[in-house]
Amino acid sequence: MTGPAGADLAVVGGGVIGAFVVHEALRRHPDWRVLLLERSAIGAGATAWSAGVSFPLAATARHRELVLAGRERYAALRERAAGPFLRPVQMIYVLRESGLRAFGERVVGTALRPATPGERQRVAGMMPDLRLEADEVVVTHDGEGLVVAARPISEALIIEAAGRTEVQLGQRVEGIEAAGDGYRLRTDHAEWNARRVVTACGAWTPPVDGLPEAPGARRKRIAALHARLPVSLDDPLVYFVDDDLFLVPLTAGVALVSFYRDQWDTDPEACDGRPNADDLRQGRAALGRRSPMAAAAVTGGRAFCDLYTDHRLPVVTTSPEHPGLAAIRGGSGSGVRLAPGLAAEALDAFDRPGMTAVREPVPH
Ligand SMILES: Cc1cc2nc3c(=O)[nH]c(=O)nc-3n(C[C@H](O)[C@H](O)[C@H](O)COP(=O)(O)OP(=O)(O)OC[C@H]3O[C@@H](n4cnc5c(N)ncnc54)[C@H](O)[C@@H]3O)c2cc1C
Repeated sequence: MTGPAGADLAVVGGGVIGAFVVHEALRRHPDWRVLLLERSAIGAGATAWSAGVSFPLAATARHRELVLAGRERYAALRERAAGPFLRPVQMIYVLRESGLRAFGERVVGTALRPATPGERQRVAGMMPDLRLEADEVVVTHDGEGLVVAARPISEALIIEAAGRTEVQLGQRVEGIEAAGDGYRLRTDHAEWNARRVVTACGAWTPPVDGLPEAPGARRKRIAALHARLPVSLDDPLVYFVDDDLFLVPLTAGVALVSFYRDQWDTDPEACDGRPNADDLRQGRAALGRRSPMAAAAVTGGRAFCDLYTDHRLPVVTTSPEHPGLAAIRGGSGSGVRLAPGLAAEALDAFDRPGMTAVREPVPH
């Protein structure tokens, strides 16, 4: 389809971020010929294992812009083929009262309010032995968060784009070189030409020389547990802010528990989605401080890795020497909720080359 003249845009990597780059490119330029090269299958990397939660929380102006872009684009998808893969969820936050004001400033587009007795009751129903500290408050906001089924939504976006996109799976791009007024992409099987290239390779290193790496880029393991608990799909997400721990219904009777996993420099090639003994041990310990019953009900979980940056915000890198080439780096554990905004930034970057480095501190 792309022929010898090549594609208008090649996207390297078919995770949720690459899928949104394809979607956004065709939304802006319906006449473009897009090529997607993916070393494995659509959504087979971190995207496959994601909890997919989109919190309406942001710490800086740019973060806020990315969150708002994500919210707008996901809302637009609710009426389309991808709609069934989006589940609105009420967000309930537990935190120390002393941190309430600062936390409230991070909420985007709505305001915190105390949880009603009925809402607190629902939380207690999910974890009957829940432990709260005396100085903790339970708050929520109107306007929901979202749980995104990240792999299916990536597949839905690519299927929707299929008539205008050449999708090549099982193609690991090994080199990207300048050629004519564009780039030549070499995989282990073939070569392609494209006028522009966006790489969205997740925790893998993009196969391109000459672009700066995101500041502080480092791979971190991410793990979540699955626990048999009395939850239903319309129960809220409960986020223990000071513990960096949240619990969200996954299916009827099973909750996903996300906790902070402090293991760095994980090789994506060594991740197969299964949790290891340390994931389970650390996760059970974190959950057990809140609900020993929930910790005892853990049946397994999931684990992969993601690229993190200095300030835990993804970065779009470009270089004046390579116009038409951009790399999206550092999902930083938020790649699903930020994917639409990152895709938009990458396409904007072709109009204003230079590096979009994030220097603002981002407390998380
Ligand atoms: C357990 C867990 C829970 C998470 N929870 C959340 C959450 O609640 N909310 C949230 O927003 N985020 C969450 N995340 C993070 C989120 O999943 C990631 O930030 C996001 O999936 C990153 O998407 P990506 O497209 O950058 O990467 P990936 O999904 O890893 O995709 C990269 C793709 O590039 C391909 N690729 C790599 N190199 C090449 C190459 N040379 N040639 C061709 N293809 C290549 C890979 O095969 C892969 O398919 C979670 C992650 C995990 C593991």
